[in-house]
Amino acid sequence: MLGTPPLPQLVGSDSYVPETCVLHPEQVRTYPFAGVLPEELCARLDAWEEAREAEAERVGDDAGEPVGYQYDLSIPPGWRVGGFASWHRTDPYPMDCPTCKVPMDLLLTIDGSEWDGGSGSWKPLEERDLAPHPFAMPTKVVVGRHGELNVFVCPADPGHPHLWGLQ
Ligand SMILES: [Zn+2]
Repeated sequence: MLGTPPLPQLVGSDSYVPETCVLHPEQVRTYPFAGVLPEELCARLDAWEEAREAEAERVGDDAGEPVGYQYDLSIPPGWRVGGFASWHRTDPYPMDCPTCKVPMDLLLTIDGSEWDGGSGSWKPLEERDLAPHPFAMPTKVVVGRHGELNVFVCPADPGHPHLWGLQ
């Protein structure tokens, strides 16, 4: 850890400057946003979720909230390197390299919150009794209207210009 973190030369908004903190990266398996999956697979996921909800209703409150694909399994909240982009605020759209036109890969996601009420399965056990605010926002970075900033990179040549999108 640096004794004195480097300061940015120019700051457009204080909400883009992270609090001094320590990273504890974890490797997790993620899955694509449901809206980009083939229709047949989406239908199978819907049927699976409906069956889990019906089972939860049958069992009662003891079972807790049933696990859902979108919030619990596919894309975790929080800062991420790689993985899949969420398209929860817009419909998915192509992110093709402006130079060579190949589909770009997600390089980095900057997210203001590590977990919330809709992503309970990603909440760390050691934080299970804490409220989302302020404990789920250790960096205090706020992107847009509490969204995510996705930075995309060209898989053919990382020197090609990056693209970014807000969700
Ligand atoms: Zn390219």
